Amino acid sequence: MISIPDAEPGQVYLVGAGPGDPALLTLRAAHLLKTADVILPDDLVSEEILELASPTTLIIPVGKRCGQPRITQAGIHDLMLEHTRNDSSVVRLKSGDPLVFGRAAEEIAFLREHHIPFEIVPGITAAFAVAASLEAPLTDRTRASKLILATAHHAAGKLSLTPSWSGSFPDEATLVIYMPGRDFETLAADLIASGIAPTTPCTAVSSASTPQQHTYTTTLAGLRSANVGPAPVILLIGPEVHPAKAQA
Ligand code: SAH
Repeated sequence: MISIPDAEPGQVYLVGAGPGDPALLTLRAAHLLKTADVILPDDLVSEEILELASPTTLIIPVGKRCGQPRITQAGIHDLMLEHTRNDSSVVRLKSGDPLVFGRAAEEIAFLREHHIPFEIVPGITAAFAVAASLEAPLTDRTRASKLILATAHHAAGKLSLTPSWSGSFPDEATLVIYMPGRDFETLAADLIASGIAPTTPCTAVSSASTPQQHTYTTTLAGLRSANVGPAPVILLIGPEVHPAKAQA
C-alpha cells in the first residue's frame, strides 16, 4: 500500500485535473481532492472530478468563462490568501497540467510574495490525452523529432502565430495548438505562410476524454473549412497525426 499525505492546513496545492476523465487523475490529485478544505476549480474541470471531493469541502468555482460574473485573477489570489490565513488547505484545480497555459506563473509569484507554502501536482495535459485517444504518436524517430505546444490565443487577444516562428516553422515537428479560437481560415493561412506544408495532417478534437468527444481529421489546408465541435478544442498538426481511429 502506498501512503499519500493529506492536504495540510494553510497550504495551497496547484493541481492538474487532467483532460476530464476522472480515471486520468493522478493518485496524489485524487487524494488532495478528498482531503482539502477548499477547492477552487477552473471551468474546464468536469463535474465527475468535483464529485470526488469530500462532502464537507467548500467548492468555489473560479472559471473565467462560466457565464457567471467574471472572477479576476486578483480575485482568485484573494481567495487563496483568505482561506490559507484561516488555516484551510486549498486546492487550486486546473484542467490538464497546471503549468501548461494555466496562468500558473502569476499564482506562483503571488504565493511566494505572500509566503504561502504550496506544492504543484502535475496532470495529464490535453495534448497527451488527445494523442492517446487517437493512437497518434506526437514524436516519431524518423518524422517528428520535436513537439511544440503553442496557443493561438495571445494575451493581447490577437490571433497570430507566425511572429513566434520568425517566419519559418521547424521541420519535422508536431505542433499542438491550445485555445485555437474559431477563425480557422486565418489560423491555417498563418501556419501555411510560416512554412508548414498545406498537406500536413491536422486533427481537431473537441471535449477530449469526455462522452462528448468529437474528432475531425483533415489537412492543414482543409482546416479552413473544418467542421470542428464546440470548445474546448485542441489542434494537432504534424506528420503522425492522421490517426487510424479517427479515420475509421
Ligand atoms: N492546462 C490545460 C490547458 C488550459 S488552456 C492543459 O494542460 O490541458 C485551455 C485549452 O486547453 C482549451 O482551449 C483547449 O485548447 C485545451 N483543452 C483542455 N481540455 C481539453 C479537452 N478535454 N479537449 C480538448 N481540448 C482541451
